[in-house]
Amino acid sequence: MVIAIDGPAGSGKSSTAKLVAEKLDFGHLDTGAMYRAITLKCLRENVSHQDTDALGHCVQDTTLSFSGSPPHMRLFMDDEDISEAIRSDEVTKQVSDYCKPMVVRDALVEQQRTIGKNSDVVCEGRDIGTVVFPEAALKIFMVATTEERARRRQKDFERLGVKKTIAELVEDIKARDEKDSSRENSPLCKAADAIELDTTGMTLEEQVDFIVNKARGINPSLHKTN
Ligand code: C5P
Repeated sequence: MVIAIDGPAGSGKSSTAKLVAEKLDFGHLDTGAMYRAITLKCLRENVSHQDTDALGHCVQDTTLSFSGSPPHMRLFMDDEDISEAIRSDEVTKQVSDYCKPMVVRDALVEQQRTIGKNSDVVCEGRDIGTVVFPEAALKIFMVATTEERARRRQKDFERLGVKKTIAELVEDIKARDEKDSSRENSPLCKAADAIELDTTGMTLEEQVDFIVNKARGINPSLHKTN
């Protein structure tokens, strides 16, 4: 069973998805982390997001693999653990440009489908319910106000030792929303059959329980020990 969680930056997808996966004993596939990984590699190798040929080679020459189990998954790129490096401000600012070209999307969507095929997985991103797994049994579209999302991002950055003001983060989030929603290829949008979940003012536990209960509504035999 695939649970698709889509939504804009800071809507609570990642923290929720990993705990839902842990509770249901599912895998967790963070597709944003994969786009971030390719961005990190291109930045390190000075590959421009406009250079489609070089981008294509970069994606083909890169091996991405997840290890561990939710909520403590790690992402490896060519055997290097890049779980923290992909969260840098620089990668965050540039990922919306690097994830746009179809050479990147086609290759990563294929890998995502391979990982999710015939398995129980919580898959999060921007185009999961619309493009990657349109047949997903449960689709959630998470939203929250821009200010709430900025506050959450500020906490994420604090954990990495980076100081950012709320005003700065609101601007960053709006810029990323605009790029992610207006792009031609697989833009961020709610699937017609997705359930919208506004997480503004909700606790993490409430968000997790909401999705777990929906999943158990579809399949009552899902893991029950937590
Ligand atoms: O989810 P996260 O914020 O880590 O995603 C980083 C970026 O990757 C997003 O802003 C978006 O540009 C891109 N992305 C995407 N499609 C996905 C997941 C992420 O285009 N399925």
